[in-house]
Amino acid sequence: MIEVKQLKKSFDALEVLKEVSFDIQAGEVVAVIGPSGSGKSTMLRSLIHLEEVTGGTIRILGQGLVEEGRYASGKDIRTLTDRMGMVFQHFNLFPHLTVRANLELAPKTLKKDTAAGIRKRSMELLDKVGLLDKADVYPANLSGGQKQRVAIARALMMQPDILLFDEPTSALDPELTGEVLRVIKQLAQENMTMIIVTHEMGFAREVADRVFFMDKGEIAEAGTPEQLFGNPQRERTRMFLQREK
Ligand code: ATP
Ligand code: MG
Repeated sequence: MIEVKQLKKSFDALEVLKEVSFDIQAGEVVAVIGPSGSGKSTMLRSLIHLEEVTGGTIRILGQGLVEEGRYASGKDIRTLTDRMGMVFQHFNLFPHLTVRANLELAPKTLKKDTAAGIRKRSMELLDKVGLLDKADVYPANLSGGQKQRVAIARALMMQPDILLFDEPTSALDPELTGEVLRVIKQLAQENMTMIIVTHEMGFAREVADRVFFMDKGEIAEAGTPEQLFGNPQRERTRMFLQREK
């Protein structure tokens, strides 16, 4: 589903990703953990072309987004990145649009369906995230947890094959993280392919099929939650997990 080979990214002299390689299968849930500045966001943003990489290969659904540092055409990049949805730490909702209009904007702009079809889907997805009663409300009148559930519903409107989450609960008060994690867990049960950058170790352990520990621009260790949390092989993984406790 996602193939990454020797991915490299530098910001000027700063090497942020150093030959990162991994494969993710359809239906897999991968949690990415690691210290601040280790390159987690940059890796995720590179997959959806919010960052241009310096070298390496990214294949999405078998097709090259970038092959050995050479990007596909703009149109092909668009087709591939459309297969993915991303949810950010700070929600990134459009403040001047109601909840429903936030969901419907992209599919309407891209003429994904009839207006009635889009309306039906937005109501179904709001129901799925438990926010049917908030359809006509503006984001400013929602709690952080509700905003994040709207952001997830909005990402699902485009029927993505892959969802990417960058610290979806880091901006939330602890009592609001549960409602967001529950929605993500439900998506995992429905076999959505997901990469989730998170500081929630308990959640990573519970929901992920595999965990990647990133450190200094590399995947320093990868394994099942049982392996990585229960029996980390590398000293730097152990030290990080000690600190996060
Ligand atoms: P955090 O846990 O704090 O979110 P992270 O693992 O997501 O950290 P990144 O945001 O990927 O880390 O950043 C990796 C490194 O790249 C950091 O040193 C950061 O300062 C640097 N960096 C990120 N974006 C840019 C940019 N646009 N220009 C220059 N440097 C950048
Ligand atoms: Mg980050």
